[in-house]
Amino acid sequence: MPSLNRQILVAACLGVLIGWWVGALPTDAASREAVLYASTLAGSVFIGLLKMVLIPLIFTSIVVGVSNLQAHHQVHRVWVSTLVYFVITLSLAMLVALIATHIFKPGAGLSLTMFAEAMESFEARQLTLSEFFLHFFANLFQNPFAAFANGSILAVVVFALFVGIALVAGGERYRHISQLFQEFMDLLLLIIGWIMRLAPLGIMALLIKLVAEQDASLLVTMLGFIVLVFGTTLFHGVVVLPGILFLVTGKTPLWFWRGAREAIITAFATSSSAATLPISMRCAEQNLQVRQGIAGFVLPLGATMNMDGTALYEAAAALFVANLVGIELSFAQQMVVFMTAMIASTGAPGIPSAGMVTMVMVLQSVGLPAEAIAILLPIDRLLDTIRTAVNVEGDIVGSVVVQKLADRSRDR
Ligand code: ASP
Repeated sequence: MPSLNRQILVAACLGVLIGWWVGALPTDAASREAVLYASTLAGSVFIGLLKMVLIPLIFTSIVVGVSNLQAHHQVHRVWVSTLVYFVITLSLAMLVALIATHIFKPGAGLSLTMFAEAMESFEARQLTLSEFFLHFFANLFQNPFAAFANGSILAVVVFALFVGIALVAGGERYRHISQLFQEFMDLLLLIIGWIMRLAPLGIMALLIKLVAEQDASLLVTMLGFIVLVFGTTLFHGVVVLPGILFLVTGKTPLWFWRGAREAIITAFATSSSAATLPISMRCAEQNLQVRQGIAGFVLPLGATMNMDGTALYEAAAALFVANLVGIELSFAQQMVVFMTAMIASTGAPGIPSAGMVTMVMVLQSVGLPAEAIAILLPIDRLLDTIRTAVNVEGDIVGSVVVQKLADRSRDR
């Protein structure tokens, strides 16, 4: 039996091929309907299983992670390295977007009037920067049970941080609770191992549906922009992030790809960093030797806050819209776009198309029409694949880098 890693790779390729075949069948063909139905079913079951373990996993891994780090006096170093890493990689993603959009000028040759119909039937929700901040901070602290039930990841992270720190502050008194969390964490990892057996099937099903349902004529109209987004995001994922990994840890891109590919392919197929989190944790801990304390801290935080692919996309898309509308943005305005895109990506939850919602804020920051999102929505499922893969890659690279930095300063 081939390894799970290999099975996932083969399943992903098969998914794309079968998706192509199904997409070429007449829309009323019974075989098309049957394949699409079966893949929707299998895809939703796979994502459902990942979501089932998601919230308990985030909570437990942070509690265990923070209490372990705190006990070894590493919390501060890990915090600082994680935040510095997030800011540096997000800024580099912005730089890639800036250079690429200047060279390739996306949207040149297209005009807004070509999309008038789509924009008319679309009413954009307004989201200003101040509203965004209000919403962000108001949601940080919640009744934990409500947060668990609603899947509010950031609020779960915050509550878990409190519990983890309190466990250490209480010391011996809470020894049993600590042990219980540790055992529960092991149990969750066992369940994730079972879910992973379904990963090849789930990934194949998701990709069949994705490829079969693309609208070819739309893809041709937007081809230039799609290639630009794919190219720049890939550049960040293949050159920038592995470059940082190599510089800090000396590990090669091949070593990283071998250890992280299950998670990266799953992110590509599910378009959700959150749903991929259980697999990212497994890859980081079991394949890349990141300690549970660090992986359990960096990855859940990264899945909600560190989205290089999303930031890059939001900035590139805003400049694309500016070109469509025929507005020449000044350098200062472009900087506003990049800052807002960084903030917007940080606030986007790790679910499919979340970036589209916070993108409204980026457009509004320089007075671009928010309705222009209607143009991007039909191709978003496609573009979401690569940006989510790079989002997840950035988190996993982050866990390896942060571990190295934390150990280096401890050894000094
Ligand atoms: N789907 C992305 C993620 O989960 C977020 C986004 O850009 O829409 O990371």
